[in-house]
Amino acid sequence: MIDILIDSDNRVIDHLRLSVTEKCNLHCCYCVPETATIQQELSVAEIERIAKLLFSIGVRSVRITGGEPLMRSDIVEIIASIYQIGFDDVSLTTNATLLTNINAHELLMAGLSRINIGMSSLNATRYNSITKYHLTAALTGIKIATEKFSDVRINVVMVDGFDDHEFEAFRNYSNLHDVTLRFIEYMPVFGAATATRFDLWKKLQEFGAKKIAPLFGQGPAEYYLVPGFNKPVGLIFPIHKKFCSSCRRIRLSSAGELRRCLFDNQLLDLHTLMNVQTSLEIVQSIKAFIKGKPSEHSINKDTNLGYSMAKIGG
Ligand code: SAM
Repeated sequence: MIDILIDSDNRVIDHLRLSVTEKCNLHCCYCVPETATIQQELSVAEIERIAKLLFSIGVRSVRITGGEPLMRSDIVEIIASIYQIGFDDVSLTTNATLLTNINAHELLMAGLSRINIGMSSLNATRYNSITKYHLTAALTGIKIATEKFSDVRINVVMVDGFDDHEFEAFRNYSNLHDVTLRFIEYMPVFGAATATRFDLWKKLQEFGAKKIAPLFGQGPAEYYLVPGFNKPVGLIFPIHKKFCSSCRRIRLSSAGELRRCLFDNQLLDLHTLMNVQTSLEIVQSIKAFIKGKPSEHSINKDTNLGYSMAKIGG
């Protein structure tokens, strides 16, 4: 019989968001607080051991994130070791600025199936003011990603200053480069910036957008067909369109802390448990912990949790 992870709301948990580092070469105002301190990172062997345990209890897909995962010199090894366990889907979230033809090829060969790219602006000045980095590096990375991978999605967190020009620029960009766009509602986390006043819903209505069935399995995005856009447009609105009742995710920080929700103030320290418990005991601890996954996030109450998105892995 296949073992499964299930919480007390009967949600099956089969997706892992795996942060491999807190470090990032960008300092996005919505993500990395200026005061970030870096914890010890799990080794490849430790990541592999935890991934194997989670696979044995039904986790089937892994999204690798950070910080910036490409900051780890052993990222190809990490992906290969996870892929070889047998997960159905191993994907990566990156800012794309460190992608090269060489590492993109190695990531593909290691078993990476697709790439999500975080992009906050297509305007060079605004991109630089949000990220403290240069837009050309991100655009080069996206080009490389689309040449190597058939499934590339651009995640646009809408922060203050997002406007009609940005909306149009992203539309033209997505049509030209054949990438899927997903607009993400800004979440007010520790150390982060402020939300946009741009009313995306109103804009999509003006365009005559029509909601369609979920495009990519059971992820959080809702998809719309929008006249003028060649590809369906994804919307991820964790606050105004909560998707907690269908959440199948758990998160592992780069230091080995398991969380049941982005806004979960409890954690299970798997790094420590690996030194004091057998694999069977760790699995029992994980199952008991997952039972208590919060029914819904408390983002409106707990916006100052003491950790940033970069720390927990967005
Ligand atoms: N460095 C990679 C990147 O830039 O995509 C991966 C890490 S980053 C924490 C992962 C994603 O989290 C970002 O692409 C962005 O979509 C999301 N994110 C970060 N801060 C956010 C915030 N305050 N609100 C909503 N989404 C956020």
